[in-house]
Amino acid sequence: MAHSDDSHAGHDHVWADDLTKNQGLVLGALAHSDAPLSAYDILDRLREDGLKAPLQVYRALDKLVERGLVHRLESLNAFVACADEHCHRSGLIAFAICEGCGKVDEFADSVIEDRLGEWAAGTAFVVERTTMEIRGKCGACAGA
Ligand SMILES: [Zn+2]
Ligand SMILES: [Zn+2]
Repeated sequence: MAHSDDSHAGHDHVWADDLTKNQGLVLGALAHSDAPLSAYDILDRLREDGLKAPLQVYRALDKLVERGLVHRLESLNAFVACADEHCHRSGLIAFAICEGCGKVDEFADSVIEDRLGEWAAGTAFVVERTTMEIRGKCGACAGA
């Protein structure tokens, strides 16, 4: 049977069949969490599924981040499942992090990206990726 492996060029963002068992477990744990999880949070949740070593979680996270299925929030040292099932066509990803309830909203903004694009063109800086982390309170927490 034809197993097409020629989709390597360009968009490679697939809710893939070819995840390893551990990658699938880690992605599942993140997808079912409302808040970002640290590697140790993930390990805690997956102990019953047979994950025992932090290294297993880190390896799976590395691959998932590489594929764009999971994002790392630098300021929290934690991870979230990508909220966008489709490829990030834009190079910019923004996260609004609520300091009240811990909720994280992922979004992209083409206006900000265009601005950064102009800046990059003007300074000959080659951007590989841009991640914005915005701290504050979500609507529900701000209103409380
Ligand atoms: Zn994403
Ligand atoms: Zn909140």
